[in-house]
This record gives sequence, structure tokens and C-alpha cells, in this order.
Amino acid sequence: MALNKNHLNTLGTDCASAEARFLMLISALPKVSVQGYDKERRVIYWNASSEDIYGYTQEEALGKCLEDLIIPALMRDEVVSAHEKWLSEGVSIPSGELALQRKSGDTVYVFSSHVMLSEHTDSPEMYCVDIDLSEQHTIRCELEKLATTDLLTGLPNRRYLEMALKERVEKAERDSTSLAVFFIDLDMFKDINDTLGHTWGDKLLRSFADRLIKCVGETSFLARFGGDEFVVLIDDIDDNKSLEDLAEEIVDCCKESFSLGTENVFVTSSVGVCLFPNDGTEVDTLLKNADAAMYEAKEQGRNRYSIFSDDLSVLLHQQRNIASRLRVSLENDEFTLLYQPQVDLRSGNIISCEALLRWTPEITEHSVPPDIFIPIAERTDLIISIGSWVMEKACEQARAWRNIGIEICIHINVSGRELEQDGFFERLARCREKYALPPEAIGLELTENMLIKSDEQVLLGLQKQRAMGVEVSIDDFGTGYSSLSYLKRFPVSHLKIDRSFLENAPESDYDGALMEAIVHLGHKLNLKIVVEGIETQTQLTYCQRLGAECAQGYLFAKPLAASVIQKRLECQQ
Ligand code: C2E
Ligand code: CA
Ligand code: CA
Repeated sequence: MALNKNHLNTLGTDCASAEARFLMLISALPKVSVQGYDKERRVIYWNASSEDIYGYTQEEALGKCLEDLIIPALMRDEVVSAHEKWLSEGVSIPSGELALQRKSGDTVYVFSSHVMLSEHTDSPEMYCVDIDLSEQHTIRCELEKLATTDLLTGLPNRRYLEMALKERVEKAERDSTSLAVFFIDLDMFKDINDTLGHTWGDKLLRSFADRLIKCVGETSFLARFGGDEFVVLIDDIDDNKSLEDLAEEIVDCCKESFSLGTENVFVTSSVGVCLFPNDGTEVDTLLKNADAAMYEAKEQGRNRYSIFSDDLSVLLHQQRNIASRLRVSLENDEFTLLYQPQVDLRSGNIISCEALLRWTPEITEHSVPPDIFIPIAERTDLIISIGSWVMEKACEQARAWRNIGIEICIHINVSGRELEQDGFFERLARCREKYALPPEAIGLELTENMLIKSDEQVLLGLQKQRAMGVEVSIDDFGTGYSSLSYLKRFPVSHLKIDRSFLENAPESDYDGALMEAIVHLGHKLNLKIVVEGIETQTQLTYCQRLGAECAQGYLFAKPLAASVIQKRLECQQ
């Protein structure tokens, strides 16, 4: 049965009327294009919808070849041979989605099904029934874009980045070229976000993204990896000089302040760079190594770049080792606490001490400095169990000393993750109860960055501790991103001035002025001042003159074993 008009004329009347109705129906189907082709693929039928979808009128189309009308050049041979195979071998053309071509040259997306009529005659006819998928295609493209675009900055998102990196790695592999991955992270962004609020935080991220686009150029691939992290991919770059120049330019993107409402805010960024194939050949490894190099830049003081190196790779390996060894260290009894005295600057007496953790892994037998292992423990939940151990040990020691009449406060260092953990204050209360200790027996040392990030719940918890008489110190004061106006919000009793301030204060006007200002401000807020890291008599005299209450440092004692500091405390009594 054929559908063209000539054939219809030859049919009986009944049949013809049914066919005619059917033909009318098909001719009028909106969005369903039906085309008929003879065995040379010349158009013998072309309904109204075909005109709409493909742009050719029936007059223009009739008699023309399928491949010259709507088949894009690259598909022509394939279509011709599929049609011939159907005719000669009976292999039908499967239905499927196709990208065909309109008269204007534009692409049109259709779902195309094919039927062969009069297959075994001399005049086989192929009918194509095409459904216009343009709208679906547009929606699909939009969804795809949404799924691969970061809505805040409009940049490709992490998912897109991973696909792009994979493609570029494969290309670089084929062409034997290199590829650089830059990992960029804003320094202290979380603090800015917390201080100024998310609206301005978002604005900052958008402005930073704009500066990055200008800096790396349109041809580079720039994506937002997440939060305040961005990644740039640069093809075919491997000389160190170019890498360093670009990394420097990226760091310089923050040279000028960002204008956020009425405030001009200065931020910095840290950048890590690694190279394919030298530093990794897999997407995950390249991203991880660029990230590690970025961390290295942060550890070296932020606002700089670092290029991944073999040394860093060794260091990462060591850190992984440390992390896995730390896991067993608590059961193996590899930790000890040392105690460093804190001295009253007027009387010269030891009035309290700070518990400092030491770790000597069984297999190495020499200790790993806390500056190395604490940050590693902090990246995992290990710090929670380590912190609990420290709290328990310090309470046990305080009880032992109280039993022999030594009533000094032991300050413990508390990490952010511990404090954020539900139940920290309950744990502390239980521990004090277990060893029958009064609140003033155990003090807490927290950094200003931790305090700034703390939510109301934590601040309330600290407030209650303070009300009970627990000493709470801001540790390393002056090194964080704190705004002085925040100080009065924090429920603290002591300010521990970081030793970097003291180092040059007696000689340097600038550092001296800072020290003086901090002491003055602390006193105004009714806080006691503890100066850390006193190593020389000059520094001691200087601190006494400033009116600081308390000091800690090698001049008095290094961190000592409990038995050693106990002897000193016994003499003092
Ligand atoms: P921190 O809390 O600022 O501790 C003071 C650090 O300064 C200690 O290093 C101490 O040995 C050192 N120090 C004291 N006086 C002087 C001095 O006169 N000159 C010099 N150059 N250094 C001095 P340590 O014991 O290596 O601890 C380093 C950091 O590790 C601590 O800094 C603290 O942030 C962390 N830490 C130590 N124990 C613990 C702990 O139990 N829990 C947590 N979360 N962190 C801890
Ligand atoms: Ca401390
Ligand atoms: Ca400190």
C-alpha cells in the first residue's frame, strides 16, 4: 500500500476513501513529518509538517533526492548505503534520534522511524516518519548546561571540569604534550563569609571569578571546583618560567581590594600547580596533587603559589603514613603529655601550666612534633579521640597533684573539630566529676579563628564554663583573622599573645606598638595577658614593663615531664 496520490487514483472507491482519510490525517499531523521516497530516494510524498520541520515546500521537495535535501554532508554516504542495503538485503534502518538539516542549513533534531512499502516489487518505497524533537533538545541542552554550570559564577562546575580534564589528558597523551592544572583557593574565605555574611561572600566569589577569567584568558579552561576553590587547565605548557609567571599573575588577581557594599575588602589566594604527565596521568591524581601543592602554599604563609615537586610527593606520602600510624597510636600508648609552666610576672611563681602533647610512634622511637601530626589528626576525626585522651590525662594529673596539695590550673589545647562536636562540654563535666575536680582545675585554650567560626551553641557553652570559673584563653592571639571588635563577644578570660609578636617587640617600634596595643586592649576588656615564647631576659623585662600578668617560655622552662614540673611545684610551696 502506498500513500502517494497517483497510487490512490488507481484504487477502488471504498478503499480510496479510507486511504484518502488516512492521507488527510497524516498530511495534517502537526509536528509529525512524513516523507516518502522511491527506490532512487527521490521524494514522492512530503506532508505539511515536513514543510515546517525542514523548510522545503512540497513543490521544492518532490523529485529531489533525500541525501541532497535534509541529510548533513557527513551522514550522506552512510544514509545512501543503509538505504541500498535495505533494498538489496532487507536490512531495515532502525528508528532513532537524528540530527538532520533544514533548508536554511540549521540542524533539526528528530526521532525518525522508517517503513518500506511494496518492498518486493520493482518500485519499493521508503516512508520516513519524523517527530520534531527541537523543544526536547533545547530543554535537554539547558539541563545539561545546568548540570555542568556553577550557578553562582556561571563557570563550568566540578563535574564539567572532571570531564574536560579527562578529555584534555587524553589529547595531551595522544599529542605527547603537557597540561598544567592550577588549583586556586581564597585564603580565610570562610572567616570573611562568616564576618560579612553570605551575600557579600557570594559577591566576592563572583568578582574573584571575573578577575580570574581576565587573568587566564578565554582560551584556558576555568572552573569553580567548589566553595572558594577554582581550577584552571592550560594546554601545552611545561616550561617552569611560564608556569611560575601565570601562577604569579593569578596570585596578583587579589592585589587590589574587592569592593563589597561600603567596604573594601582585601583577600589573598593560594595557588598550587601540577603538570601532566610528570606529576600524574590520571584526573584524580592531577587534581589531588595540584590541591596538595596549594596546601603547601598555604602552609608557607598563604598569598603565594607552590609548584608540585618530588619533595612534596614524599611529604604527602609521609603524611599518609602518619595518618595511618596515628590510628593505632592511642591503643599502643604512644602519647604522653608534657607540662610547660606559666609564671606570674609579679611574683615569679608558677601559677598554671599548659599540657602539650607528645607522640613517639613505637616503630620510629623518636617523637613527631605536634605541629606536624596535630594538623593531620585535625583533618580526620582522629583529633576527637586524641583530644579526649588529652582531657582525660590532664584531669588525671590534676587529681594526682591535688592529692599532694598542688592546686594549679592545667590548660589544655582544644581543636575546632572537638569543640564543634556535640557533647564536648558534657564530656568535660563528666571528666571533672570523675576526678572530683573543681571548674578552675582545667583551663581551655582556643584559637581566635575557632572562636570566630563558633556558632551560638558553642559560645553559649563557653559562657557557661566561664560563669563556673573555668579559665578560657585565646591562643596565638594576633595570628588569626580576627577583628578586634569581636573580642568582647567571646567568653574568654585570658589573651595569649603569640610569640611572633614578642620576638622583636623590645627592639622594633612597630611590633612594640602592636604589643602595647594588645595589652592595653586586653586590660580594657578585663582579660589577663599571657605572653608566649619568652626566651630572653630582655623580653621578660619588656613584658613586665608592659604590665602583662603572666608568661610562658623557654626562659622559665621548656615543656616538662609531669614528675619534673612536680618537683618545681613542690619547691615553690
Ligand atoms: P601552642 O598551643 O601555641 O603551644 C606552644 C608551643 O610553643 C609549644 O610547642 C611550646 O613548646 C612552644 N614554646 C613554648 N615556649 C617557647 C619558647 O620560649 N620558644 C619557642 N620557640 N617555643 C616555645 P609544641 O609543644 O611543639 O606545640 C605546638 C603546637 O601544637 C601547640 O601550639 C598547639 O597548637 C599544638 N598542640 C600541642 N599539644 C596539643 C594538644 O594536646 N591538643 C591540640 N589540639 N593541640 C596541641
Ligand atoms: Ca596553646
Ligand atoms: Ca600558642
